[in-house]
Amino acid sequence: MSTSFTLNATDGMARTGVISTPRGDIRTPAFMPVGTAATVKAMMPESVRATGADILLGNTYHLMLRPTAERINRLGGLHKFMNWARPILTDSGGFQVMSLAALRKLTENGVTFKSHIDGSKHEITPERSMEIQRLLGSDIVMAFDECTPYPCTEAQALESMRLSMRWAQRSRDAFGDRPGHMLFGIQQGSVFPDQREESAEALKKIGFDGYAVGGLAVGEGQEMMLQTLDFATDMLPSDKPRYLMGVGKPDDIVGAVKRGIDMMDCVLPSRSGRTAQAWTRRGQLNMKNARHQDDPRPLDEHCTCPTCRNYSRAYLHHVFRAQEMISGMLLTWHNLHYYQELMQGMRDAIAAGDFAGFEAQFHAQRAEGDIEPL
Ligand SMILES: [Zn+2]
Repeated sequence: MSTSFTLNATDGMARTGVISTPRGDIRTPAFMPVGTAATVKAMMPESVRATGADILLGNTYHLMLRPTAERINRLGGLHKFMNWARPILTDSGGFQVMSLAALRKLTENGVTFKSHIDGSKHEITPERSMEIQRLLGSDIVMAFDECTPYPCTEAQALESMRLSMRWAQRSRDAFGDRPGHMLFGIQQGSVFPDQREESAEALKKIGFDGYAVGGLAVGEGQEMMLQTLDFATDMLPSDKPRYLMGVGKPDDIVGAVKRGIDMMDCVLPSRSGRTAQAWTRRGQLNMKNARHQDDPRPLDEHCTCPTCRNYSRAYLHHVFRAQEMISGMLLTWHNLHYYQELMQGMRDAIAAGDFAGFEAQFHAQRAEGDIEPL
């Protein structure tokens, strides 16, 4: 009933390894599909697994409001409730309270807010966040933090980061000793190196099972994000998993792995799947575009997903135009498959000591663009 992180190979800053939990292994670098409201939208859990996902992310904020953590706990926990037996990581609720809830009030104690669903009043504190994530049965629990907005002044970032570090200690204390479950701390400090360093030192002193880089992918842009990762990642312990929250597009992911990130999550592949945006090795395309309407070829002839094996571009175009439910199902499957294949490609390349070769090919294929219209 224990957890561990084993590094199998490194190539530059890039690493590949395995996080072991009682609910199964997570191969790293790992991409976590987002199951916001106890479902990865438009996908059956077994289909998500078939794309190659080892772990899902669940959102504390959404689940505490509906159907509530207490109800999920009474029904046997989140794994049983949503029929996903493998590892689940839950966020702390902090980020979504600030982005979704109304009438938010932040104090030293925590955040009070009104539900965006029914206007009911709630409070999340570090202690309550740990309780909710325990009730859900999450395998990887995130410390409660304030995601510092961007842009912000250096003084605002410092105040916010120090509050998050006090909350990190309270999260650690409230989490207690739970064999088989991991607690991750979250580094803040915006884009300021000295603040990232202070945050990393504070977290290391408290001691966590893994460390997230927080406060990125909040509008600073890819260049600034990667520049921050250039110094922020290396401040975190190398013998523990490092998680970049809320990232991202395929080229963000490759850039993050290159800089030593082991885990990522993003709604992008599933959300894009419902809005006709396809991600392929040749870049992004819109299936509603008229160029696809007579095209009998698959989205990507090299892709082994059920969508590309069995359906044409013309069919995808038609079902999106007709707003059929299968449109989101088929494209979400493909997009998640593509993301997992990207992760497997990076794991293999790092193990083979050729991440640079992988990266060069990744960018070369995208530069080619989509196949020529018929
Ligand atoms: Zn496909």
